[in-house]
Amino acid sequence: MADVFDKERRSFVMRRVKSEKNRSTELRLIKFFKDNGVTGWRRHYKLYGKPDFAFPKAKLAVFVDGCFWHGHDCRNTKPKDNADYWSEKRLKNQRRDEEVTAVLQNGGWRVLRIWECSLSAKKIGALSVDAFV
Ligand SMILES: [Zn+2]
Repeated sequence: MADVFDKERRSFVMRRVKSEKNRSTELRLIKFFKDNGVTGWRRHYKLYGKPDFAFPKAKLAVFVDGCFWHGHDCRNTKPKDNADYWSEKRLKNQRRDEEVTAVLQNGGWRVLRIWECSLSAKKIGALSVDAFV
């Protein structure tokens, strides 16, 4: 079936989907930090690759990776329509993720990548505070 959106319109729609999803998972992680007394984190910290959270003192960069965009092997991340288009996009993102991780690690940062699905209301209880200290 043909895509109902032309290319420009689609990227606009997907950008919106992305930013809204990200915001809610980020907020959930912030709540987790507050509930568990995790301190020292910054949002929008100026660092290569724009991590979602940074702990400057501990030199820890935290990325929340959207399952769809970053190619997690969980459910609902493999659309059948435009499969080639999406798999190419995800491959690009994954390469970029690897590159960002390498650059940060070379600069002495630890990098923690968290899948979006592990921050669902159901699963966030399993997240360990130890990862952030
Ligand atoms: Zn996932």
